[in-house]
Amino acid sequence: MFKIQDYIRDIKDFPKPGIVYKDITPLLQDPEAARKTTDALMEKIGGLKVDKVVGIESRGFFFATLLAERLNAGFIPIRKPGKLPYDTLQESYSLEYGEDVLEIHSDAIKPGEKVLIHDDVLATGGTAAAACKLVEKMGGEIVQCNFLMELGFLNGKDKLDSYQVVSLLSI
Ligand code: 5GP
Repeated sequence: MFKIQDYIRDIKDFPKPGIVYKDITPLLQDPEAARKTTDALMEKIGGLKVDKVVGIESRGFFFATLLAERLNAGFIPIRKPGKLPYDTLQESYSLEYGEDVLEIHSDAIKPGEKVLIHDDVLATGGTAAAACKLVEKMGGEIVQCNFLMELGFLNGKDKLDSYQVVSLLSI
């Protein structure tokens, strides 16, 4: 039987000593695993109406694109500063040490559009919360925050408590 956890490997001390990084590339190497993962994410989405799927740089892009195709929705990238070529809106958010910024193209979401946010991993929730704020600044309505995996011990859901949050795997 397909188990998503068989395709996610732990990399110790990446990108820094003390971090155990969840590497999802084995999921992408295997077309059947990628398809079954997309099927499982689609089940979590259920009958929600979705106009745009937002993928968060960079590992969020893979399954966000696959979901957008299945949902017949547009795909929108949210990226780190300076990577998007057109006019952008920005949102800053706090990290453990310091701050980071996310950007979205200023024409990406139209007021009233229903938006699904997707990323590979929900850790502290800061990244996804900033992505939600960007979408809402543009008048979009978040219908779901959707993840492959949630690191439950970091309580990321607390920062997303006004949204529906789903993940295929919680550790
Ligand atoms: P947060 O803002 O929730 O603390 O961090 C989530 C962001 O960091 C996501 O964009 C996610 O891709 C990345 N991230 C954090 N920890 C991991 C990890 O262990 N593996 C992977 N692949 N990404 C991670």
